[in-house]
Amino acid sequence: MKFSQTFIPTLREVPADAVIVSHRLMFRAGMIRKLANGLFAYLPLGLRSFRKVERIVREEMDATGSLEIKPTVVVPGDLWKQSGRWDAYGDALMRLKNRVGADFVVSPTAEEAFTSLVRDELSSYRQLPLSLYQINTKYRDEVRPRYGVMRGREFVMKDAYSYHTDEASLDKTYQDMGRAYRRIFKRCALTVIPVQADSGAMGGSGSEEIMVESEIGDNTLLLCKACDYAANVEKAGCKSDFKAPPSPDAAKQAGLPPIEKIDTPSVKTIDELCAFLKTGAEKFIKTLIYRAVNVELDLSTAPGAARLEKRKPAPGAPELYPEAFFAVAIRGDLDVNEVKLAAALKASELSLASDSDVERLTGAPTGFAGPVGLHTLPLVIDLTVTAMNDAVTGALAKDLHYRHAAYGRDFEAWMISDVRTVKAGDRCPLCGGELYEKKGNELGHIFKLGYKYTKSMNVTYLDEAGKAQVPTMGCYGIGLDRTLASVIEEHHDGDGIIWPLTVAPYQVIIVPIKYEGAVKALTDSLERELEQRGLEVLVDDRDERPGVKFKDADLIGIPFRVVVGDKNLAADKPRVEIKGRGEKESRLVETAKAAEELAALVKAGLAELNS
Ligand code: ATP
Ligand code: MG
Repeated sequence: MKFSQTFIPTLREVPADAVIVSHRLMFRAGMIRKLANGLFAYLPLGLRSFRKVERIVREEMDATGSLEIKPTVVVPGDLWKQSGRWDAYGDALMRLKNRVGADFVVSPTAEEAFTSLVRDELSSYRQLPLSLYQINTKYRDEVRPRYGVMRGREFVMKDAYSYHTDEASLDKTYQDMGRAYRRIFKRCALTVIPVQADSGAMGGSGSEEIMVESEIGDNTLLLCKACDYAANVEKAGCKSDFKAPPSPDAAKQAGLPPIEKIDTPSVKTIDELCAFLKTGAEKFIKTLIYRAVNVELDLSTAPGAARLEKRKPAPGAPELYPEAFFAVAIRGDLDVNEVKLAAALKASELSLASDSDVERLTGAPTGFAGPVGLHTLPLVIDLTVTAMNDAVTGALAKDLHYRHAAYGRDFEAWMISDVRTVKAGDRCPLCGGELYEKKGNELGHIFKLGYKYTKSMNVTYLDEAGKAQVPTMGCYGIGLDRTLASVIEEHHDGDGIIWPLTVAPYQVIIVPIKYEGAVKALTDSLERELEQRGLEVLVDDRDERPGVKFKDADLIGIPFRVVVGDKNLAADKPRVEIKGRGEKESRLVETAKAAEELAALVKAGLAELNS
């Protein structure tokens, strides 16, 4: 391909909103252009690399036995109403009406579309397991699209969905997908960190995200210095200090003073309380009141349960409580992890209760809630609280606190759960080693969904005994645009992109010093010979100064550059200069051997990444 015949509008300047390397370089290299906030067009060079990522993803998906299909991007709103996500998905879901007022969505993900298809076709256990995928456009009305195609509004996702008769079969596909993902990212020359992830409130039983380390990452990862434990902070656990509740006698034997009320005038925050009592926050039990939405947990034994409304959102769906309040107690120096809490409560959403709800439920203004004597709400305590036997805590009245409060003696819990946010320095839940933090960006996600969609959407098949059963399900996504941008994040220098061969838009760029005469003739014959050997070649035939062409070649990052110049051609043995994009020095190679040598280099480079 001749540079003058394609469309690679390289630039020296970048728009102000391009703050990360991949966004800047994709823009400058003429790979993408912005149409509107979060909407990007791929130009020819960008599309070539995009297609390479797509091909790698497709090959590895096919190798798992998953079958590619092509559903529509616009999907009937009814399906989303059946799954419950028409309401639950939030504002990122683009909802539309057609000309006769029927509801549709522009797919942000496709559990509903695939599950509806499977529902219509599935009759017998003999059809399972079934794994289907698409590589298709998604739209999410992200609040803050940023970092170019890393977080766009429209993007392409490979999403696969699998259906199974049992957990063992689901687990096999889940493991196969995990391996396929590792191969995909290895072939793209990406260094990834697989981490344990939250599997949600609705019966998911396993979830792994594949991350790349990134300063601008939206995810906090916790990794163990001693073993290979790695988890998203949303999921991360740590070695806890769980203790069985001490008996009142044991507290007495330990010489613990009795619980005592103290006046704490105008003291509300933990910091104020610390200053007032001159102790550290770890001596406090902080109690937060949460409002939870769509709680699937059975609350029949919980205090205040009699007042709660219960509802079946759809036929076949499990009963749930549309709204329920909880008191959550945690050691004062720690934070509640709302994702872990939501998972423990099987709630679809969680927020801190309003001041008026706090007052109504605890009888005291915000800041004075505590576990002692709290009988209006289910009390969830973090594991850390079970180890506290001489704590300060709110006394359910304005300007009053307790001290010497002990778990087991002065209060009991309705539920004990690990709900704290784990931090660097905490101990690994597997080996007790020290945990440290990294920032990461999610490239892919594999997820055992369980029965969430198959139940709510009424999918059944007949088992061997002719009995109707609901299949279990998994889903598996990779963002292609984000993967491509991440390759650039990992492979670049001050001059531009350094493409790994597997994702490079072209493998070789030929730069004639001046595209005329003998130089032109050799350039053209080398191009032909390389193409005959199956290589992808770009020829910079533009009438530009060599310096400009070299700069552009570095910017667009083609793995091998061949410079054809008069001087080297005029020598006894005519030569060309070959240089790898990541190398400092070029080498002179006899023109007669150039094609063979380049073909060998490309072949070896590809083989290494694809092995
Ligand atoms: P994030 O936490 O980054 O918003 P997510 O958890 O919403 O991602 P999934 O629903 O698991 O993402 O989607 C699967 C993959 O799709 C992600 O791993 C990511 O690679 C890609 N992806 C998600 N949102 C976007 C986006 N706005 N732009 C580009 N790619 C995206
Ligand atoms: Mg995800």
